[in-house]
Amino acid sequence: MIKVAGKKVMVVGLGASGRAAAAFLASRRAQLTLTDIRDDLDPAELAKQFPGAAIKIGPEDSRLLDGIELVVASPGVPPDAPLLAGAKARGIPLIGEIELASQFLSAPIAAITGTNGKSTVTTMLGQILRAAGMHTFVGGNLGEPLTLAIGGVFDALVVEVSSFQLETIDRFKPRVGIYLNLSDDHFERYAGLTEYGAAKERLFKNQDGSDWAILNRDDANVWKLAKSVRSRVFGFGFVESGEAAAIWPDVGTLKFHLAGRRGEISLKGFALPGRHNISNAMAAAAAALAMFVDEKIIAAALRAFSGLPHRIEFVREVDGVKWIDDSKATNVDAAVRALESMAEPIILIAGGVDKGGDYAPLIAPLHRKAKLAILIGAAREVMRAALTGACEIEMFPTLEEAVERAAKLARRGDTVMLSPACSSFDQFKDYAERGDIFQKLVRAL
Ligand code: ADP
Repeated sequence: MIKVAGKKVMVVGLGASGRAAAAFLASRRAQLTLTDIRDDLDPAELAKQFPGAAIKIGPEDSRLLDGIELVVASPGVPPDAPLLAGAKARGIPLIGEIELASQFLSAPIAAITGTNGKSTVTTMLGQILRAAGMHTFVGGNLGEPLTLAIGGVFDALVVEVSSFQLETIDRFKPRVGIYLNLSDDHFERYAGLTEYGAAKERLFKNQDGSDWAILNRDDANVWKLAKSVRSRVFGFGFVESGEAAAIWPDVGTLKFHLAGRRGEISLKGFALPGRHNISNAMAAAAAALAMFVDEKIIAAALRAFSGLPHRIEFVREVDGVKWIDDSKATNVDAAVRALESMAEPIILIAGGVDKGGDYAPLIAPLHRKAKLAILIGAAREVMRAALTGACEIEMFPTLEEAVERAAKLARRGDTVMLSPACSSFDQFKDYAERGDIFQKLVRAL
């Protein structure tokens, strides 16, 4: 456990996890420097919340690092930001909030990463463990920062971890590491899929033979790790496998074998749409099995799980037209899965901020299922260039205009779906605001 009392610690980035880290460090009497470049933060309010801390809001200044003994970086701050690069150059230890928290926690950790499905699987697994009577913390990248678990009495900690958070771990060692999938995303931060994947693979770097790696057999970028991790491998995938530990779907059930034990988990009543959600259920079930949960409890918890908002969420039906909010599809693969999950004909509303990934995987599902794609926001021209010929395409600057146009063109039996394949920051605070506004527009029709 690192010593923080009396230590000069700088927290870079004051979002939810940075503030949680700062509050924990303050409670352990660290000498704090708090900094962020965001100009909408109020230094006076921060000073009230963190008495005695040095607070610097504004452009980064490397001189702030003088005397600092530990830097806690927020996931949103890129490694080449002057303060982080400066800390590295000066040899100052640099960790993230997940690493900091995990050093003060002793309950077994189940950590979930992947490009898509993290929040869904994290929530699902949390609900399964709670149904099994385990006192379970659920958080990390989703909901409550992990630091808030410190001091609580937990049987398990279920933690969503992003690639950004994994960049700044050091000794973080999940008992169960779940790696869902890898596809184009975040190329504003990473040079390509290899570099992005390398960050995710850090999930397993401290594991040993007493731990589990739950790996997607259907994703070559994930499954290749089965050969290199030191932990025991539990593979999930759509085809039966002879691996020592494996789970796969079979007519309305998930079948598994695990260390000589064979069994099945009923999927009766499982309500989430799409093949990708069967994959998510397999991952959560595998983790729960590795944590000794009974298959009947897993089945009941899967049946009770109704999904998260803004993930292929049904909003309403108007004159025979279904409206779906998949605002959380902030990359191409998520939008592809959404198209594959819904019945045609579909009117897709997509666009927002381009993240540098390839749009080509959208062409085939659009061609098969979409009667129209309405492209909005900053990325609309780039997307049109990439998708021309896949289906009919129209462009509008705003979501409001897109909804209005879709409402005019949709016929009984159609599905209109917002599944943007882009992030939202050109016109919205985040994906949730984008989804809320979409739902409001749809309810007003
Ligand atoms: P994350 O936390 O990784 O962003 P979410 O569970 O919030 O994942 O889902 C994000 C988006 O990805 C949603 O649009 C959802 O429908 C889609 N999605 C969920 N699971 C998967 C999966 N296994 N593969 C591809 N897309 C998925």
